[in-house]
Amino acid sequence: MGQLIISDLDGTLLDHHSYDWRPAEDALAAARAAGVPVVLCTSKTRAETHWWQRELGLEGMPCIVENGGAVAWGTSEVEGLGVPYGQLRQVLRECAVEADCPVRGFGDMGLEEVMRLCELPADQAERARQREWDEPFVVDQDPEGLLVAIRKRGLSWSRGGRFYHIHGKNDKAESARRVIARFGRRGPVVSMGLGDGLNDATFLQVVDIPVLMPSATIEALRRMVPQGRVAAAPGPEGWAAAVLAFLAEAGIDQ
Ligand SMILES: [Mg+2]
Repeated sequence: MGQLIISDLDGTLLDHHSYDWRPAEDALAAARAAGVPVVLCTSKTRAETHWWQRELGLEGMPCIVENGGAVAWGTSEVEGLGVPYGQLRQVLRECAVEADCPVRGFGDMGLEEVMRLCELPADQAERARQREWDEPFVVDQDPEGLLVAIRKRGLSWSRGGRFYHIHGKNDKAESARRVIARFGRRGPVVSMGLGDGLNDATFLQVVDIPVLMPSATIEALRRMVPQGRVAAAPGPEGWAAAVLAFLAEAGIDQ
């Protein structure tokens, strides 16, 4: 039985505040040595995710970007599942007016504001601004009316660790299904998924073994994915423990 790991980045494989991933270094190396693919599944852009793949030694793996807006199969083949960025910006503007709820999206922000809100250095913030399928935004008031207006226009919203996001009907689940199906063509595969945000709930429901990372929203996530295992620690420490246990379980089966 083959194994496959699909993982969120922020607050899951990366520390929510420092973006540190070193505590997961040994587990990443163990997955690589065992030939187990690690597919990143994130709200980050393609530019950012490819950068993180190089950093984490995951170059050439597929990745799911911008909350399932697209699956990048390596660096050349991009399977778009979402609504293009310009259209999302237009709808967000209309909904903000209708709901009388001012918003600030990435497209309204300069580089420095993105750096500050994301706690990112300039080069990483620049990659974060290269949106294609998803617009992150912040609000200063209860966004209920805005979120209703987004739905009314046939688009979706989700909430990550730092931002609300507007996007098409795509979510992380459909893209995760496509990744699982493609790896499944080579033979039976057991999939583990790891995530910490409420926008991870849908993809955690389509993997065989969902792992929920401790965070401020863990109770809500547990209600949405009741069959999930809760990782022993938040961020890369908990990620490493869950992945090493997954690899060890397969070893016992062999
Ligand atoms: Mg996260």
